[in-house]
Amino acid sequence: MRERYADIIVDISHEKVDRPFQYIIPQELVDAIYPGVRVHVPFGRGNQDKTGYVVDLSEETEYPVEKLKEITSVDEKGISAEGRQIQIAYWLKQQYGSTMITALKTVLPVKQQMKRPEKKKIVRCVDKERLQDAIEQCRRKHQVAKVRVLTALITEEELPYELVRQKLNVAPATLQALEKQGYLVMQRESYYRNPVRQMGREEERPCLTEMQAHIIEDVLADYRAGHPGTYLVHGVTGSGKTEVYLGIIEQMISMGKQAIVLIPEIALTYQTLLRFYKRFGDRVSVMNSTLSMGEKYDQIERAKAGELDVIIGPRSALFTPFANLGVIVMDEEHEGSYKSESSPKYHARETAIRIASMYGASVVLGSATPSLEAYYRARMGQYKLYEMRSRPGGSILPRVSIVDLREELKQGNRSVFSRQLRELLEERLRAKEQSILFLNRRGYAGFVSCRACGHVIKCPHCDVSLSEHRNGKMVCHYCGYEEPKMMKCPSCGSKYLMGFKAGTEQIEEAIHREFPEARVLRMDADTTRTKESYEKILSAFADEKADILVGTQMIVKGHDFPNVTLVGVLAADLSLNQNDYRAGERTFQLLTQAAGRAGRGDKPGEVVIQTYQPEHYSVIHAAKQDYEGFYEEEIAYRDFLQYPPVAHMLAVLIISQIQEQGKRLSEEMTELVNVEMKETKDLHVIGPAEAAIGKLNDLYRHVFYVRHEEYQVLVEAKDKLETFCRERELKNQMVQFDFDPMNTY
Ligand code: ADP
Ligand code: ZN
Ligand code: ZN
Repeated sequence: MRERYADIIVDISHEKVDRPFQYIIPQELVDAIYPGVRVHVPFGRGNQDKTGYVVDLSEETEYPVEKLKEITSVDEKGISAEGRQIQIAYWLKQQYGSTMITALKTVLPVKQQMKRPEKKKIVRCVDKERLQDAIEQCRRKHQVAKVRVLTALITEEELPYELVRQKLNVAPATLQALEKQGYLVMQRESYYRNPVRQMGREEERPCLTEMQAHIIEDVLADYRAGHPGTYLVHGVTGSGKTEVYLGIIEQMISMGKQAIVLIPEIALTYQTLLRFYKRFGDRVSVMNSTLSMGEKYDQIERAKAGELDVIIGPRSALFTPFANLGVIVMDEEHEGSYKSESSPKYHARETAIRIASMYGASVVLGSATPSLEAYYRARMGQYKLYEMRSRPGGSILPRVSIVDLREELKQGNRSVFSRQLRELLEERLRAKEQSILFLNRRGYAGFVSCRACGHVIKCPHCDVSLSEHRNGKMVCHYCGYEEPKMMKCPSCGSKYLMGFKAGTEQIEEAIHREFPEARVLRMDADTTRTKESYEKILSAFADEKADILVGTQMIVKGHDFPNVTLVGVLAADLSLNQNDYRAGERTFQLLTQAAGRAGRGDKPGEVVIQTYQPEHYSVIHAAKQDYEGFYEEEIAYRDFLQYPPVAHMLAVLIISQIQEQGKRLSEEMTELVNVEMKETKDLHVIGPAEAAIGKLNDLYRHVFYVRHEEYQVLVEAKDKLETFCRERELKNQMVQFDFDPMNTY
C-alpha cells in the first residue's frame, strides 16, 4: 500500500522539529513525495502558501481526514542542505529504529540564542631565544602550563586559542599572565584573515612513501572517474595514515570539495589537530563535547556558509551539512565510540558510507587493528584494502613476553606482579624511565560484602553492587546513588562488612607496598569524573611527575609518552571472560594498543602480558602484533556461530517500570517474530531473558536477539515490532533496538 499522508515541518527553524503537521498527498504527487523534499502547503487559517519539508510518510492518520489539507505542489528548487539532513534522519530511523523526531534531533543541530563566540588566536611576540630563556625560567619555577604554551610557540608563530585551552590544558589566567609579561598576545581572529599568515603554513612536508602516494592517487582516481568507493587503510600507529588523509583532503579542497574527519574524542590529541590546522589554516574547525550547543550550532552555520573546508570531530561531526562533501575520513575505525549508545543506535561507519553515497563522496577508513566488520568486507571486495606495514622512520617494535599467572602461583608468588614484571619495573625505576600498568576492564569496580553470610550490598535502584570509596561512602557506578558505609550487614546483622577495592586501586596499593619509592598516578572512572581531571592526569604523567601510571583502558589511547619503556598488562583475561561475542576482538585490540604504548620515543620498549590463558589466540596474536593471524581465527569463530559480521544480529531491549509487565511484553514480542516470520529461513530468535543488568535506575530490563544473514530481514522484524508497539500504545514501557550490538545486554 502507498503512503497517503505526509508529516511536514513548516519553516524549519530547528526548535520546531517536535511539531510536524500532517497533510494529504494528492494522487498526482505520490511519486514525487519522499522525506527531504521541499513542498508548498496551505498553512493556518488563511491558508497562506508556505514551504515546508516532508519528514515522514504514513499510511494512516490519527486525525479526522476531513480536517487535513492537501499538499499544493513540490518545490522546484530541488533537494537542499536541510532536505539532505532530513533524508539522512529518515534513513537512520528506518535502518536503526527510532522515532523520526529523535532521528531529526540527532542530525539537526539545536538552535539556541547565543552570542557568537569569538575565535581567538595566540600570537608569539618575542624571538625564539627570548622564548627559550622564558621556558627555562618557568621550568625552574615548575610552571608546567606556561612551559607547555611557550614550547608550542617555539615551533608555531600562532596557535588557535581553543587548541591551547582544551588540548594543552592551559587556564585563561595563565595566558593573561604571559600576555602581561609580553611573550604573547591574544588576538581576535577577525583582526586579520590573511590566509598567507596562517601559522607557518609553508611547513616542510615529508616526502611521501610509495605506498602513501599510491593510496592517495588511487582514491582520487576513483573519485575523478565518478565511482568513489570505501577504502580501508590498515597500518600500525605511526605508519603514516594521517599523512595519507591529509594528502587526499588537500586535493579534494583544490577541487572545491569539503572533508569530514572523524577521530574518536579520546584520540583527538593536540599534535594531530595541529597538523590539520597547519595544513589547512583557519578553514578547519573542531567539534567536540566541550563545545556548548551554541558553539556547535555556529560551526554548522560556518560549514553551511562555505567558510570551512574541513571539520574534525567525533561521531556527531558526520552530520555537518557541507554543500559539496568530497570525502569522509574515519580514523581508528574499530573504536566502540563510533556506535551511538542512545536511540537511534547508529554506527558511524555505516552512516558515513550512506551519507557519502548521497554526495558521491569517498570514505577512507583507517586503523591499526581494523574491526572485524571492515576487514571482512575488505576481504569480500566491498572495500579496497591497503596495507601499510612499516613506519617511514623505521622503528623497532617492542619486545613482548607472555607470563603464565598459574605458573607464578605454583611457584608461590601471590603478588599481582609476576617475577618478570617486578624485575622490569625495578629496572625502570632505577633508570628513571616510566611504566604503564594496565587493567583491561571497564567497570571493574569494588564492592562491599559481609564476611559472615556473604551478602553483597547492592544499589537499591540498580542490579549492581555498590562500591566503597575513600570518602567512606558506598557509590553506584551506574546511577550515582550513594550512602554512608553501613555498620551492620542488612541481611544477618554481622558487623564484619568488608570492602573489596576496585582493581586499579588495589594495584596502586600493591605498588606502594612493593615499590615504596615509586610515584604513582591512577586513572580510572573514579579519578576522572571530570574532563579536566582526565587531561590533568595525562599531562602530569607526560611531565614525568610520576614513574608509574595505573589505569583502565582509557590510558592506552591517544597520548604519546616518549619516556615510557615498559607496559604491563596485569590480567589479559579480564576482558576475555566477558560473556560477549566481541570479547576476543576487544582483547586483541586492547593488548595490541597497550603494547604500542611502549617505546614510542627513541628507546626500545618492553611489554609484559600476564594471563591465566597464555594459549588464547587473542593473547598470542596480540603479542606477535599479528593482525591477520588473529583475524583468521576470529572470523572462523564468528562464521561458525553466525555472528556479525558474517551474519547480522538485532538486540531488542524492553525497559519497563513493572518487572512482570516487561517480562510479558518481551515474551509477546518474541512470539510475534516467531509467528510472523516463521516463513523466513534461518531466522533465529534467542531469548527473551532478563538483561545482564536486570534493573537500572529503577527500570527493569529484558532482552531478546534476532539473528539472520541479511540485515534487511532484521529491519523487517524491527518494523513489525514497531507497528506492534505502536498499536499497543505502550505505557510505562520503552523498546529499544540495537543492530549488530557492540555489547550484549
Ligand atoms: P599514523 O596516522 O599512521 O599514526 P602519521 O601520519 O601520524 O601516522 O605518521 C607518523 C609520523 O611519521 C609523523 O610524525 C609523520 O610526520 C611521519 N611521517 C609520515 N609520513 C612520512 C614520510 N613519508 N616520510 C617521513 N616521515 C613521515
Ligand atoms: Zn551478613
Ligand atoms: Zn544505581
